[in-house]
Amino acid sequence: MAQISLNDLHKNFDSTVAVGGISLQIAHNEFVVLVGPSGCGKSTTLRLIAGLEEATSGDIYLGKERINEVAAKNRDIAMVFQNYALYPHMTVFENMSLGLRLRKVPRKEIAKRVEEAAKILEIGDLLKRRPGQLSGGQRQRVAMGRAIVRQPQAFLFDEPLSNLDAKLRVLMRTEIKKIHQQVKTTIVYVTHDQVEAMTLADRIVVMNAGLIEQVGTPQDLYDSPETRFVAGFIGSPAMNFISCALEGNGEGLSLRLGGDLVLPVPADRVHQYQPYAGRDMVFCVRPEHLTEKRSEALPQQFDINADVDVVEPLGMDTMVFFECGGAAVCARVSPDAGSRAGQRMELSIDMNKMHLIDPETD
Ligand code: ATP
Repeated sequence: MAQISLNDLHKNFDSTVAVGGISLQIAHNEFVVLVGPSGCGKSTTLRLIAGLEEATSGDIYLGKERINEVAAKNRDIAMVFQNYALYPHMTVFENMSLGLRLRKVPRKEIAKRVEEAAKILEIGDLLKRRPGQLSGGQRQRVAMGRAIVRQPQAFLFDEPLSNLDAKLRVLMRTEIKKIHQQVKTTIVYVTHDQVEAMTLADRIVVMNAGLIEQVGTPQDLYDSPETRFVAGFIGSPAMNFISCALEGNGEGLSLRLGGDLVLPVPADRVHQYQPYAGRDMVFCVRPEHLTEKRSEALPQQFDINADVDVVEPLGMDTMVFFECGGAAVCARVSPDAGSRAGQRMELSIDMNKMHLIDPETD
């Protein structure tokens, strides 16, 4: 069983704290994605698991074994790097089989494992080529093939798709998901791309400044972000943040978004938000919960007028940008909604989907 456990893991590079104390349990066969902005400590965490960096303090377990002192080559873990790290003078077969040959695995067994991996990755006809004769996507498959033939307890991926063009990235993303379903192994995957994290992960770990902000399924993080950082990081286009005043109005609460715009808080949220009444807060709503006004309004939908600044048609949807309460706000409307820059548009906010952030603690 290949659970990976990290207990209060720290890594300092002189005065730089790259990993500031993270604890995480990764289950057998789980696909966990570490995501966060550049410099947040994702790659260092992965390198600590691989044994390419030594922890300043804390424990790393693979299954029941504490592996802090086990050399990288003796950890039963395979890593796929961003730059693929293939040997240019070796054929695809030689690249894929190198690790097994060094371990003196019998030739028949090597041939069988390479053949099986090549079949999964659909590169069976490329085995005699050298890396220079392959496309970026094919090289990426070979790098994965080299990891698969080792049959490791866990795979570590460090931004494996970032050198590919946008279309190929989407294709390879699906491939990696398929491979995980076939090969069934524990995967820890690093990316700064939240869409990649959402689409691949069983659970996402959002990191910020060397610490874990939140861990959860993609839907958990999307629906119930616990911090402003997670709310702003997960989802594209990003969630809208608008400063507001939370005011009591008899039994209920309302949000004053600057000027005359006042939105009532849904009755079932009043209890939760009551302690913050009278405070300046941040009203949050995702672009998809701000849409063109529809004829049959749902409960808790409230209409506002927007003076449209910019319209961005994406084909399937159209993004509309306007100013509200001093913030630049994005709404996701139907391409048929007739939105035009410089014109006024009636939009509807689904208040059931709102969040409130306390700006003092985020
Ligand atoms: P990116 O997405 O840019 O790769 P990351 O989240 O993977 O970023 P890390 O590479 O883990 O971030 O780096 C975390 C911090 O540690 C950064 O401030 C980085 O500059 C620093 N760091 C990483 N490796 C070293 C090193 N070998 N020596 C000194 N500082 C380092």
